[in-house]
Amino acid sequence: MARVFNFSAGPAALPEEVLKQAADEMLDWHGSGQSVMEMSHRGKEFMGIAAAAEADLRELMAIPANYKVLFLQGGASLQFEMIPVNLLRGKASADYVHTGEWAKKAIKAAKTFCNVNVVASAEDKSFTYAPAQSGWKLDKDAAYVHYTANETIGGVEFQWTPDTGDVPLVCDMSSSILSRPVDISKYGLIYAGAQKNIGPAGLTIVIVRDDLVGKAQPTPPAMLDYKTHVDADSMYNTPPTYSIYIAGLVFQWLKKNGGIAAMEQKNIAKSKLLYDYLDSTGFYGNPVNQADRSRMNVPFTLKDAALDEEFLKGAKSRGMIQLKGHRSVGGMRASIYNAMPAEGVAALVDYMRDFEKSHG
Ligand SMILES: *Cc1c(COP(=O)(O)O)cnc(C)c1O
Repeated sequence: MARVFNFSAGPAALPEEVLKQAADEMLDWHGSGQSVMEMSHRGKEFMGIAAAAEADLRELMAIPANYKVLFLQGGASLQFEMIPVNLLRGKASADYVHTGEWAKKAIKAAKTFCNVNVVASAEDKSFTYAPAQSGWKLDKDAAYVHYTANETIGGVEFQWTPDTGDVPLVCDMSSSILSRPVDISKYGLIYAGAQKNIGPAGLTIVIVRDDLVGKAQPTPPAMLDYKTHVDADSMYNTPPTYSIYIAGLVFQWLKKNGGIAAMEQKNIAKSKLLYDYLDSTGFYGNPVNQADRSRMNVPFTLKDAALDEEFLKGAKSRGMIQLKGHRSVGGMRASIYNAMPAEGVAALVDYMRDFEKSHG
């Protein structure tokens, strides 16, 4: 059976080579006679897999030694809560930048724990841009500043890193991590659910500067305390072992393919192909401010929404799935993470052109 081009926003496509390797190793990992799924998380085989995954991620992202890397569960959504619980450190408020659906959820969760200052919002233009930092009303006494690097639903991505001085910068990087180089030293904490651009659902990666760990007031329940997971090397309880293994294979795949700098060039080229076509025709549209367009998630609409169903059906018959836009915004969305080959985007643009010719 032929594999499809899967444009899902998440859980998303994985590199075919990674899936093949996982299939090869399914019954017998490296002569151990067992599947990774069956291994004790405290055994030397799995400890080796987890250590290699962390080392490879550190190398790929050039993570400085004073940052901890955690492999947790609960998704980005649990981080919406763990962040205020751990990083308020006795302070009363935190600053949040409101850029769309995911920022909104982060803000709502934080409001349970502290005063949230929305220091900038793109709501005035239906969340179609990334607010310039010159307009942010930052509070120097805020515990931290939170922003969403890439709004997966709206297709808005920050092409720059905010500068928040001594106030720790916290970033939801769920849908753009590993898609472009990032200067980790500018951040207090970065988090990402794995199911967009890393690996299978069930794993969440947190990269946190070590001086921010263990300062929570009051001391949180153990499972919600970063310190618990730092002290236990992410093995306080059973970690999502198989997801960590697949993420590790993805990290090796990234290293083999030139690392994140090479991935960025591919992502620029893939997204440019799609945006250039969208801009060349009035048949389709994308509402996002050009400078803030996402390289990972490209929402677009057909001028005539009555053609949406037919568009999706035709795409499916050509082996392209999951192009339906998020229910909150409608239209279409093509998610083109690292694992989406350039051929997939080219096939989509060819199809869009043909569809326009027959329906325009
Ligand atoms: C998908 C997503 C989330 C939610 O992730 P879960 O793992 O489902 O909790 C949060 N933020 C962004 C930017 C996302 O893309």
